[in-house]
Amino acid sequence: MAFELPELPYSKDALEPHIDQATMAVHHDKHHAGYTNKLNAAIEGTDLEGKTIENILINLDMSNSAVRNNGGGYYNHDLFWKVMSPNGGGEPTGELAEAINSAFGSFEDFKEKFISAAGGQFGSGWAWLCVHEGGKVEVCATPNQDNPLMPGVGCGGTPILGVDVWEHAYYLKYQNLRPDYLKAFFNVINWEEVASNYAKAK
Ligand code: MN
Repeated sequence: MAFELPELPYSKDALEPHIDQATMAVHHDKHHAGYTNKLNAAIEGTDLEGKTIENILINLDMSNSAVRNNGGGYYNHDLFWKVMSPNGGGEPTGELAEAINSAFGSFEDFKEKFISAAGGQFGSGWAWLCVHEGGKVEVCATPNQDNPLMPGVGCGGTPILGVDVWEHAYYLKYQNLRPDYLKAFFNVINWEEVASNYAKAK
């Protein structure tokens, strides 16, 4: 069973004005499609074929750059689309809010730390909110398409929120202004989805 490019859970213009339609179109239809196709090519005929993407990433041989880059790209974008919503923004509630307050002091402190991690990632990469067994949350950043599920990368927890800071994620609308893109990202975060990810992973 080959991996399939997931459908976006909303139309390509749904996140306007925060994330523009042109960026969504090329990002999903070209970049994410490319990672998906190259992942399938990289695992075809190997013992990775038929495994879940989580299983592949958790047990990854980090010297296998084709699976590292494209398996990461496949998983990371799948999560990224789902943690955004045209009805997003605001703040989390319930046990996720409690975990964030416990780890960072307040939502505002979390936001500052997350934006700082994403803004400070030199070159291409991602910033994450991860959860560890027991429910403790942590922020980290990783280069390229690396992902915290991979051995020895980032927080080492399960990512429940991620933001793509590759230039392809924001350059058409924001050019070099990555901080403006990150502020806009907070207007579309789907906290219900992140809370659901938290509940499953903690
Ligand atoms: Mn991307």
